[in-house]
Amino acid sequence: MGNQNEPKLKSIFLPFLSTSHIIPLVDMARLFALHGVDVTIISTKHNSTIFQNSIDLDSSRGRSIRTHIIEFPAAKVGLPVGIESFSVNTPKEMTPKVYMGLFLLQPEIESLFETLEPDFIVTDMFFPWTADVANKLGFPRIMFHGASYLARSAAHSVELFAPHLKTESDTEKFVLPELPDELEMTRLQIPDWLRSPNQYTDLMKVIKESERTSFGSVFNSFYELESEYYDHYKKVMGTKSWGLGPVSLWVNQDDSDKAARGYSKEQEREKKEEQEGWLKWLNSKTECSVLYVSFGSMNKFPYSQLVEIAHALEDSGHDFIWVVRKNEGNEEGDVFLEEFEKKVKESGKGYLIWGWAPQLLILENPAIGGLVSHCGWNTVVESVNVGLPTVTWPLFAEHFFNEKLVVDVLKIGVPVGAKEWRNWNEFGSEVVKREEIGNAIRLMMDGGEEEVAMRKRVKELSVEAKRAVQVGGSSYNNMVELIKELKEIKLARV
Ligand code: UDP
Repeated sequence: MGNQNEPKLKSIFLPFLSTSHIIPLVDMARLFALHGVDVTIISTKHNSTIFQNSIDLDSSRGRSIRTHIIEFPAAKVGLPVGIESFSVNTPKEMTPKVYMGLFLLQPEIESLFETLEPDFIVTDMFFPWTADVANKLGFPRIMFHGASYLARSAAHSVELFAPHLKTESDTEKFVLPELPDELEMTRLQIPDWLRSPNQYTDLMKVIKESERTSFGSVFNSFYELESEYYDHYKKVMGTKSWGLGPVSLWVNQDDSDKAARGYSKEQEREKKEEQEGWLKWLNSKTECSVLYVSFGSMNKFPYSQLVEIAHALEDSGHDFIWVVRKNEGNEEGDVFLEEFEKKVKESGKGYLIWGWAPQLLILENPAIGGLVSHCGWNTVVESVNVGLPTVTWPLFAEHFFNEKLVVDVLKIGVPVGAKEWRNWNEFGSEVVKREEIGNAIRLMMDGGEEEVAMRKRVKELSVEAKRAVQVGGSSYNNMVELIKELKEIKLARV
């Protein structure tokens, strides 16, 4: 791709230290490499294991892409070796130390920006300082958002108009002002930093400012998915932005890509046998009959909630794959889950996958009929790719905003009825009962009029998603335009 006579662009990608931000930004980096850009991804050793497999595959395909490893200063900040990310396994008390480590890495990253002499950088939203550095060094910084245009627009609306302060109670509904649709939420459903100012509120202000001083932003989204919010966001922010999604669909075309995603080489080898087991089971199931139940890379549920999910799945009568994680130090809970796994495996009703699953591979299997999901943005986009409806169960971050898009705007999901936002590293106090989970599953899976209409809508969106990344599609055009602009900037500098 690209003209031989045009200059080759050199780029640096800097993902944040958490799986949910690394995966889409690395997919995006790979997308630029696919389009002829030279790509260096800066990461730490432990974090790079999540994606190195994919980079090696791309490299073997002749693409100009590599990882530049920097050493996480674990000893300096008093962390054990290997704890260098914000993950569900990072003990809460260690989180500030990971931030400190990241802060200490700033001069090294800055000097890499100088020595590697990129034509542009794409850095995660959580590196607002990179906007100033890029401006100082004279190349464009593009900010990567891990969220949807709707979620960013909704947060902007709450910041500006504070509708939650005009309600009587935490559970009274209010409309998010000045958005393309009348979206209703409660105070309990919006993130704590929007509810009342805290340190994170300050950080988000800095991030917003840095977006305004950056060249523009990129999202894992596509125009047809949230066109009104795409336009709205660009208007209210007054910034340039490019939807380049669905990135996972675009760069993970082969089964080898899908199987490698999120695993280290060792993990992939270890999981192979297990994978053959559930894949064979899945292939034996009838079309559209199996539920895929997963809550992303960061979820934490108390055992009381896991028990409710298990019963709901069993009672639903549908077959299922449930990606689940054990809670440390709860033997009773572990025994419950292990017995449940044994029982459903023997009856052929379901599979439990521990910790991490090759989601892209599973979702595209014709046997899968719908998701039960936390509305993590990447999963929303991936469910649309494959044309599947979702039982929405938002938990933290901007999930409740994403639920609005899925349920109220696109009408491709059934809400489980989650009422309370929580922090990503907390269990939360809400336990959704098996009956509520069961009702939502029934509405999604049992062939009623609403279900048929919902499936038709999501299938149409799936077609749009595929079209977006083909020659002449909206994301394709965005990519071509963005690269063209970046080349012009490079030529002007030279
Ligand atoms: N993912 C996966 N296997 C898992 C969990 C997650 O492949 O077991 C991938 C998923 O396909 C998605 C990303 O990790 O691309 C998770 O991002 P999302 O925004 O959906 O949720 P988060 O992890 O940020 O809560």
